[in-house]
Amino acid sequence: MDSLMLDGNAVAGLLQEVFAVEMTAAIGTCAGCGASEPVGAVHVYRGAGIVLRCPHCDNLLAKVVKDGTRVWLSFPGLQTLAVAA
Ligand SMILES: [Zn+2]
Repeated sequence: MDSLMLDGNAVAGLLQEVFAVEMTAAIGTCAGCGASEPVGAVHVYRGAGIVLRCPHCDNLLAKVVKDGTRVWLSFPGLQTLAVAA
């Protein structure tokens, strides 16, 4: 990890606001390399928004942008996201 990168636990609160389940234990599968990891293990980069990248192939898994009233989510590189039912 470099100094600008955090792990997925850094976005636990934000994801908890959007999804009504514990997200750090949710399992995401990368559409780039097929690896499956808990959200807590992904690489997180913060800038104008938040970018989640695969820890194995650096594929862009998800983007999150938030202002005072809305949250925009995109999952361009996430094949599946499995959450506890
Ligand atoms: Zn990957």
